[in-house]
Amino acid sequence: MDSQEVVLLPKLSRVAVCGGTHGNELSGVYLIKELLKSKREEDGHQPMLVLSNPRAAQQCLRYIEVDLNRCFSQDALNSPLSNSAPFEVIRSRELNALLGPKGSADSVDLVCDLHNTTANIGLCFITFSHSDWISMHIFKYLQRCIPDVPMRYIHFDLPPDESYSLDSVGKHGFAIEIGPQPHGVVRSNTYTTMKNAVQHMLQWVHLFNSGTVFEGGLVNVFTLVKHVDYPRDCNTHDIIAAIHPELQDKDFCLLNPGDPVFQTFSGETILYNGSEALYPFFINECAYYEKGIAFSLSRRSCVTITAVQAHRDLSNKR
Ligand SMILES: [Zn+2]
Repeated sequence: MDSQEVVLLPKLSRVAVCGGTHGNELSGVYLIKELLKSKREEDGHQPMLVLSNPRAAQQCLRYIEVDLNRCFSQDALNSPLSNSAPFEVIRSRELNALLGPKGSADSVDLVCDLHNTTANIGLCFITFSHSDWISMHIFKYLQRCIPDVPMRYIHFDLPPDESYSLDSVGKHGFAIEIGPQPHGVVRSNTYTTMKNAVQHMLQWVHLFNSGTVFEGGLVNVFTLVKHVDYPRDCNTHDIIAAIHPELQDKDFCLLNPGDPVFQTFSGETILYNGSEALYPFFINECAYYEKGIAFSLSRRSCVTITAVQAHRDLSNKR
């Protein structure tokens, strides 16, 4: 792809910023509440602000019954709804009606969903595409505007129908994940980084819609290869080891075959037995113990993105 070529894309008329999809990830919860305070109803150019799981946020829980951010695949959204459906399944239908329907012409142009992690990942975009130039240009812009925060672009390689997170409901979408911050805790530095990122993201949308040409360039993309579970007792299924101190907090530091990954509770070191050096992330994320994920591994690649500009006459607007 020639990075000098300017690709014309529809304007982003309808943008949604969501927080509290996980109710105990407090930077997003409090940022949405703060932005709602200053929102002027008559201003149609402001983004939609959504507290995604208000009940979980009120109780400071990740979720009430099931993980809301796994409820947005086409299958999950379109399966029959029983009387005993979990709260989050019902809520996912409401959010799909508000921001979607997913995959339709009516869906909002961009969904930015705010998350925190206990892992030392800095600021990450998490997306289901490595060819969504809107998301990648916003990422590049944030890298330039907030140079003191380490940023990475993570790609989960799933087809659109199978993408399961709230941000997949928009025509474009990404999660902004910032850590480390313990769940149920808000740290001012993390909150401020998130606030700055959202402001710059909205600034980018404004510039794009005003006709600014954004130059092409290179983006490093970390594509998920696999998740790694904790070593477990085969009878009780209890974990028998913690992340090794040499791996803890080393998100996005290349993990080589033979490097320590776990330390058992009896004191032994377990080494990484993969054949390929990969980049670990979400190391020791609190909420992933229940999902059987101790850390995830990714492969880094460099993607060339073209210059983009809003098409003068094209809008996604209904
Ligand atoms: Zn989250």
